[in-house]
Amino acid sequence: MSKQINVALIGNPNTGKTSVFNSLTGLNQKVGNYPGITVEKKEGICKLPRGVKAHIIDLPGTYSLNASSLDENVVIELLLNKNDKDFPDVAVVVSDVENLKRNLLLYTQIKDLKIPTILVINMSDRMAYKGIQLDIAYLEKELQTKIALVSTRKNKGIDQLKELITNYKELSTEPCLNASEIDKEYFDKLRKAFPNQLLYKLWLVITQDVNFGKIDRNEIDAINSFKTKGKADLKRLQQKETIKRYQFINNTLKKGQTIDLKSAKDLRIKLDRILTHKVWGYLIFAVILLTIFQAIYDWSSVPMDFIDSAFASLSEWTKNVMPEGAFTSLIAEGIIPGLGGIVIFIPQIAFLFLFISVLEETGYMSRVVFLMDRIMRRFGLSGKSVVPLISGTACAIPAIMATRNIESWKERLITILVTPFTTCSARLPVYLIIISLVIPEGRFFGLSYQALTLMLLYLIGFGAAIISAWILNKILKIKSKTFFVVEMPNYKLPLFKNVALTVLEKTKSFVFGAGKIILAISIVLWFLASYGSGDDFNNAEEIITTQFASENLSSEELQQKISSHQLEHSFIGIAGHAIEPAIRPLGYDWKIGIAIVSSFAAREVFVGTLATIYSVGSDEEETIKNRMAGEVNPILGGPLFNFASGISLLLFYAFAMQCMSTLAVVKRETNSWKWPMYQLVIMSAFAYVVALIAYQVLK
Ligand code: GDP
Ligand code: MG
Repeated sequence: MSKQINVALIGNPNTGKTSVFNSLTGLNQKVGNYPGITVEKKEGICKLPRGVKAHIIDLPGTYSLNASSLDENVVIELLLNKNDKDFPDVAVVVSDVENLKRNLLLYTQIKDLKIPTILVINMSDRMAYKGIQLDIAYLEKELQTKIALVSTRKNKGIDQLKELITNYKELSTEPCLNASEIDKEYFDKLRKAFPNQLLYKLWLVITQDVNFGKIDRNEIDAINSFKTKGKADLKRLQQKETIKRYQFINNTLKKGQTIDLKSAKDLRIKLDRILTHKVWGYLIFAVILLTIFQAIYDWSSVPMDFIDSAFASLSEWTKNVMPEGAFTSLIAEGIIPGLGGIVIFIPQIAFLFLFISVLEETGYMSRVVFLMDRIMRRFGLSGKSVVPLISGTACAIPAIMATRNIESWKERLITILVTPFTTCSARLPVYLIIISLVIPEGRFFGLSYQALTLMLLYLIGFGAAIISAWILNKILKIKSKTFFVVEMPNYKLPLFKNVALTVLEKTKSFVFGAGKIILAISIVLWFLASYGSGDDFNNAEEIITTQFASENLSSEELQQKISSHQLEHSFIGIAGHAIEPAIRPLGYDWKIGIAIVSSFAAREVFVGTLATIYSVGSDEEETIKNRMAGEVNPILGGPLFNFASGISLLLFYAFAMQCMSTLAVVKRETNSWKWPMYQLVIMSAFAYVVALIAYQVLK
């Protein structure tokens, strides 16, 4: 009986080595350990045609011959040691048809050891589904081998593989890569020192940190002298080797493999190609964002106008039907405008989440994560930071909690620290009302200036987050490893039910979460604005009547003057005046000052606060927007909300850290008060400076 053929099954993890092993050996197998280590060793006997037998080993999965684990050492030590009883007469490299490119790296390395090698392309049953076609003859020629196209699942190609193993002596042992190509000078020296040795084998012995006890000692000593070429240099050469190998593989696959999109049943491949494309991917993402912002504007203006005037009428009606007094005033001037300030933003928030949840449901959001990883990396963030940054458009609180799946602590901390810059839904009310006051209504290529401004504000928030991440990445001295693993779900049509539930849930959490605070603060503000102490407040009627006695004002005009005199000397007026010197350079008056101070509890309070302040003492049925438009700058005259002060306010709200709940969450997630305090102080100081500059430049 002739000697058995030694066969080693080698390949990347999960390419189906064990499945091929099982197909070849059936029940003739045994499982043990490699001597001295706990790596599993599987061997078996395979009956080949014409009475020949093969001894087959299923080697541990390895990505390349550059060892980084015990499992991989086993493979290299075997391949470098001709004296091992298991040294293969023929290596069978098992690859997976869906990942040929990556799999072929290992193939080219083994081939360069001049071991006769057969290439198994497994999982061929997936080819039709994936639209993959292979030119086997071409690949065999370029790769200088024989190929078995196998599907262990469908039990195809195994007989052909057995045939190839039987005839292994016919295989070419030409290398794929000439080792000298890596570095001519260095390899020439090596060749001179070891004229009888295979260059690539020497190279592996020099670069791999494995146990070479089984290799001839004399060789090793001589080889050690070559290790003097510094570690960094060797690393560089190894990288060069990998690049050269991939160049070869890419060239080979360019002609030998076609992924035919037309026949691909898989919509996913086609879509992924476009949606994660280096150019189109970003363009499409930008267009989608632009469309969303335009739609939010166009679709929600009608319901918003309706809600606005409905609350104004309701307030007016309440005053008419209820007896005059403090209670009526509380309802009509405190509670109703406060509620109106919440309800009015429901359309926009609902539309925003409609779009976000559709993007998530369809699977597109994961592509965005993948796409953005390329960019985020440069700023010390992970692709996964995109999810917090995008959910930050809803609210920083869930967004900060969503950072938990970022593997590296440094990336996670940075994401937590910068997420509050993204434009949350609480800023939206502030932006919307100010934009409608100070940005003209015209259109630019069909896009309204107002929608563009809103989009710009989102971009500014995102930009601030990215830039501060970049700075933090430089400053923070935290060591942590980076990984990036993202699940790509299949594309699917969004389920209406899921989308509707998300929209409902987010809107509800805005109304009942933020809404509660808004309403409470509205009531407190109404109280502070309706009461005061001191002569100016208590005797406002007398003072004003005397002052304007000679001017012959109508009783209505007089009443107006009395009310605003009273407001100015109410508790809140006093507080507003107190901070006025600090905010005047930003273009704000004491009323805006009150709104800003109360906004540090939560930003969305801003509009409700102004609504309350302005409606106190005013009788006409008017919307909050009209009231704001009518405000006059007490010092300069002209509208208080003009372009300069409007932009200044927008920028202040874009950057300031005005949210107690976010600070609390950051404390919880970082387990320290240090980080939230940094956020509060640094963000707000920055906001002040930017708003100051903006107003001073634009006024
Ligand atoms: P190993 O890690 O290389 O040993 O791979 P395994 O033999 O354990 O197989 C990995 C996975 O691929 C398993 O889930 C197998 O069921 C699957 N698999 C193996 N061969 C085929 C095949 O020909 N077609 C398909 N579709 N799946 C396969
Ligand atoms: Mg296995």
